[in-house]
Amino acid sequence: MTLPNDLKASTIAAQAGGAIDMPSGGVVPPVQPSTTFVRDEDYALVNPDNIYARDNSDIVRITENVLARLEGAEEGLLFPSGMAAIAALMRTLPAGAVILAQSGIYWGTTKWLRDFSARRGIALHEVDASDAQALEAACAELKPDLVFIETPSNPWLKTVDIAHAASCAHQAGGLLAVDSTAATPVLQRPLELGCDIVMHSATKGINGHSDVLAGVLATSKPAAKIWTDIKADRHDAGAVIGPFEAWLLLRGMRTLPLRVERMSASALKIATWLSAHPKVTDVYYPGLESHPGHAIAARQMQGGYGCLFSFLVEGGAAEALAVVGRLKLFHRATSLGGVESLVEHRHTIEPHTGIPPSLIRVSVGIEDAGDLIADLEQALG
Ligand code: PLP
Repeated sequence: MTLPNDLKASTIAAQAGGAIDMPSGGVVPPVQPSTTFVRDEDYALVNPDNIYARDNSDIVRITENVLARLEGAEEGLLFPSGMAAIAALMRTLPAGAVILAQSGIYWGTTKWLRDFSARRGIALHEVDASDAQALEAACAELKPDLVFIETPSNPWLKTVDIAHAASCAHQAGGLLAVDSTAATPVLQRPLELGCDIVMHSATKGINGHSDVLAGVLATSKPAAKIWTDIKADRHDAGAVIGPFEAWLLLRGMRTLPLRVERMSASALKIATWLSAHPKVTDVYYPGLESHPGHAIAARQMQGGYGCLFSFLVEGGAAEALAVVGRLKLFHRATSLGGVESLVEHRHTIEPHTGIPPSLIRVSVGIEDAGDLIADLEQALG
């Protein structure tokens, strides 16, 4: 069933983009696990859309279409993880290319980019892209083929002006890719701000139930060479998502706008409460007016600022770990964007990356915000 074009995200998501199953009439699309699809006596494909599961899958296409609609994109592509999506994007760059990446972003991205660029003979430069002048100067000087930013960033929650970053990248003759994971397509639509390719770890808020690993790339310029190269890479190198994962992802996405709305409201409440706590020395959340990126975030995000924030407690690693250890509702676990609240002491995980020992990263779930505040209150002591 084709839905009208002008629907809001909550309608597109709730109705899975109109994915009524025919002829059964089911309001939920089926999973077809087959890896191969038959031809008839004349050797014509019985369904011309389906040949082999590395090329085609109905449920992957349905899920990609819903994601593309939510993102305001022409096309979306699913990958088996966020990192697989980033790798597919970067693999389109030839030896000798120049990448300008935001510094202080998700450590897994930085680490992989550094290793990959060294191996491939790509010049990788890192810049604090939340500093608009520094980004502009780096683009003018380095003429990057690709600028890669993450906004809001993980775990610092820095915000980058996407429209400005796009104009810097384009003036230098390059493209802009945005990791929009912490915002989800509900709160931020980078393609509408001039970005060329938007990326998400769909493992996070898009799926929202901490039970699927997935990644997305989406574009509003499907004819661009980088996009056709990404598609060819996914097909030829085989980084495809399985049908069960795509099905689970679609199921999770049906409540995406509802979850994001609740998590964002609770995160703002909790971050505001923490800001006034005597044992908290700083809170990083773009929803707070005191945040240096608040004005940019308010301009380019709609409906909230997401589930992710970080805060610093008085003292060092021992004090932060003691707070984390006393929490009863927040699970001590990595990742973000799930319905259950999580905390992470990132300094323990990556001690040499400049994360302060007193920093606690929080992903706010859909529990009652008052219960979560009470848990933090008893843990802070
Ligand atoms: N980008 C960001 C901002 C992330 O937080 C993560 C994972 O934590 C990734 C990319 C990588 O995604 P995945 O774990 O799905 O490979």
